Amino acid sequence: MENILSAAEEILGTAVRVEDHRNWAIFWCPFHNDASREEEGGQPNFGVNLVNGYWKCLRCGASGGSLKSLRTKLGQEWKPSVSVTTPTRPKRPPTQVQLLDEAVSEARSCVQRSPAWNYLAERGVTPYTALVYGLGYGIPAPRVHREIIDAARQSMFDMLITAQKIHQLGREADTVAVYTNGASPSAKMHQWLREHPQYEYLLLRDPDKAGVEWAQSVSASIRHGGAKVRTLRPPDELDPDEAILSGWWPSIL
Ligand SMILES: [Zn+2]
Repeated sequence: MENILSAAEEILGTAVRVEDHRNWAIFWCPFHNDASREEEGGQPNFGVNLVNGYWKCLRCGASGGSLKSLRTKLGQEWKPSVSVTTPTRPKRPPTQVQLLDEAVSEARSCVQRSPAWNYLAERGVTPYTALVYGLGYGIPAPRVHREIIDAARQSMFDMLITAQKIHQLGREADTVAVYTNGASPSAKMHQWLREHPQYEYLLLRDPDKAGVEWAQSVSASIRHGGAKVRTLRPPDELDPDEAILSGWWPSIL
């Protein structure tokens, strides 16, 4: 992979970015005026696959199967423009939102191959619906960067981990994980909780003040709807996801 990257950079200049987890290096396209659009916020369109050397421009459609064919097509004399050879990589480090976005894409991309798919299909969920609503499936070891997992863990991993654990325990039929979207759930979320008294709720709260407030406001809505609710605090002042990852699971489940 490193070999293909350095061979490609020898031809095209420094890659604008390298998408390790997808095995692509992205360059300004040498076949159309791609790099000249950088000033206006243009994005590079030329990808080289780091596994097999396949290359393709998303804009002008130039493509070929190997770096050798790229060299041939450009001509032996062709050289990248000076600005392209100046290292632009690494660009700005990705933001938390971009990282999360990537984690979500990863989860979405595997939903149809996941064990959850049979269930979803049974409930009438089509691939189209899954796509439109962005359904995803949390896998125990997602093929994404460590930093993406960390970012995800800080916000929505509680939910993914809980769902995953429920799956491992084979409790899908009678247990579902509900994600309330942050410490202050929206009015819609509260309404949903009031309108679904047929369930028995178990709240796994964070040990901090925000966790206490979350549990109080969520239980108020659940009780208002007439359902039973219990709040549990994981041991050792751990957040639920940390506790579950370290082997804890509420014994009453
Ligand atoms: Zn092009």
